[in-house]
Amino acid sequence: MCGIVAYIGSREASPIVLKGLKRLEYRGYDSAGIALLNQHLTIYKKKGKVADLEETLAGRNLHAQVAMGHTRWATHGEPSDRNAHPHRSADGKLAMIHNGIIENYTQLKSELVHKGYTFTSDTDTEVLLNFIEDIRQNNGCGLEEALRIALKRVTGAYVLILMDEDQPDMLIAARKGSPLVIGIGKDEHGKTEHFLASDASPIVEYTREVIYVNDHELVIIKAGELVLKNLGNETLTPFVQRLDLELAAIEKGGYEHFMLKEIFEQPDTLFDCLRGRLDSQKGTLTMAGVENHIGQLKNASRIVIVACGTSWHAGLIAEYIIEELCRIPVEVEYASEFRYRNPVINKGDVIIAISQSGETADTIVAIGKAKEQGAFIFGVINAVGSSISRISHAGAYTHAGPEIGVASTKAFTAQLAILTVIALKIAHEKGSISNTRYRGLLDELHKIPQKARETLLLNDSIRDLAIKYKDAKDALYLGRGYNFPVALEGALKLKEISYIHAEGYPAAEMKHGPIALVDDTLPVIFVATKDSCYHKIVSNIQEIKARKGLVIAVISEGDQTIANMSDDCIVVPETDELLAPILNTIPLQLLAYHIGIAKGCDVDKPRNLAKSVTVE
Ligand code: GLU
Repeated sequence: MCGIVAYIGSREASPIVLKGLKRLEYRGYDSAGIALLNQHLTIYKKKGKVADLEETLAGRNLHAQVAMGHTRWATHGEPSDRNAHPHRSADGKLAMIHNGIIENYTQLKSELVHKGYTFTSDTDTEVLLNFIEDIRQNNGCGLEEALRIALKRVTGAYVLILMDEDQPDMLIAARKGSPLVIGIGKDEHGKTEHFLASDASPIVEYTREVIYVNDHELVIIKAGELVLKNLGNETLTPFVQRLDLELAAIEKGGYEHFMLKEIFEQPDTLFDCLRGRLDSQKGTLTMAGVENHIGQLKNASRIVIVACGTSWHAGLIAEYIIEELCRIPVEVEYASEFRYRNPVINKGDVIIAISQSGETADTIVAIGKAKEQGAFIFGVINAVGSSISRISHAGAYTHAGPEIGVASTKAFTAQLAILTVIALKIAHEKGSISNTRYRGLLDELHKIPQKARETLLLNDSIRDLAIKYKDAKDALYLGRGYNFPVALEGALKLKEISYIHAEGYPAAEMKHGPIALVDDTLPVIFVATKDSCYHKIVSNIQEIKARKGLVIAVISEGDQTIANMSDDCIVVPETDELLAPILNTIPLQLLAYHIGIAKGCDVDKPRNLAKSVTVE
């Protein structure tokens, strides 16, 4: 959460930073701001989106070769102009942007107030900034040293970037727990220029040489030179990598919204995540992360999946798949709960961490704890080079490409495909799956990208359904077995995008409470494709119809039974029940999208949300 971007070089810095902020806006859109350093330090900031900031900037002289910007997802202090970043130190000399939370800020603030400091915002960020300034003044040291001293007293998470009016050729940054990438480019005269950002999207069009900064590292860019240090003031050797990201992947490519683009990308992303891994003709699965650690994985005493949000739903489906195919007990945990309780972890345990961004703060800490206690960590991550992928013992990338829409869509279905591959691979090695079943599932998996393409043909009819149901106040999503987590995911998508209250439940559980909500205005979305629970869910549909609920059913081709009982049907291609969640989720994504649009919601930037939850 919060996007940060900075540039230092010989080009005009503000257009680079503003464009970068737009690319990072998915990370937060409560306010946006920019600091420019050109003899003097100038800060402009505004509540709202980057477009609102741009309006404020219109007609101003933004000339500077050093600039940094921030797009905020508020944690401390309401979204407002004064709480927007960048913040300025009390002496007016320093500016700072920050992503994260300074947990001991109240203590630091009272120390500063005692010394006579006053504050212009409610943020934890301004406290840290003045704390740094205070150390600099009292210790008579330079900014770098003051930062190092300050960070040793700080608890919490941060990526921060500092500018000093008296040192216009310098930017200093530090990281702990939030992401930071450095881009090293060359301007048109061959002079080195540097970019700093929360992810590579603001950097990719200028350079492909990047450094992913690690926790507890300091970045000092001065007079065109970059130095990486640890908090002990030792110089580190930066690991420069080549960025594997196409500009087109982070642009809308003709679609009105990123969410729609990403929904429609799913046939390709599913293909990409299976490419080079699945050979259904030969009957082989290749996945180095699993192969190199197969002993650990197949002999796991249990598997604990830790994740948040949509990834947690993928984890629930994986639980069913892994237990079915591998006969290994699986537990699925919210990372934010797992990290704060005292879970029993044994040496033979395998933790699977699922995260689109690979930067989810709670998941990072949860796996850190499990790792300390001897568990083996396997990451299922979309963003290449992200923190979780670096701290896991092994893992697999989902290769869904950058996901920019705040509501996760293509990353979810790619997670399901990868988790199925992992389960199949372990089961095959372990001998817990018959050869016929194994080959059958491989064949079916091979067909999934094409079936996803067929599923997308439902788009127009789902748009019509959206118009019909857009004024619902509540919605209930029900499913059984593999389709129960699909119901959870469908409800989550609707809540996120359209602000309609929605609940997902196992269909049988509805009799223990939610059925009380049913009346002739309540849409009940059944995920009821043909599987081993089919006959049971048919009865559940009857129970809803008997109470006059409005039934919208996601059903398999040729299912006349449910079609006759339902008010509306969404017919999806048939597949194995293990793989059905991949296809069944797609119409629910489209339904949420079109209802959101019909209600005039900003589907790419839903209220109060942000992508990549890098704060706890
Ligand atoms: N804590 C800072 C603020 O509220 C940064 C928030 C964030 O990174 O999400 O302004």
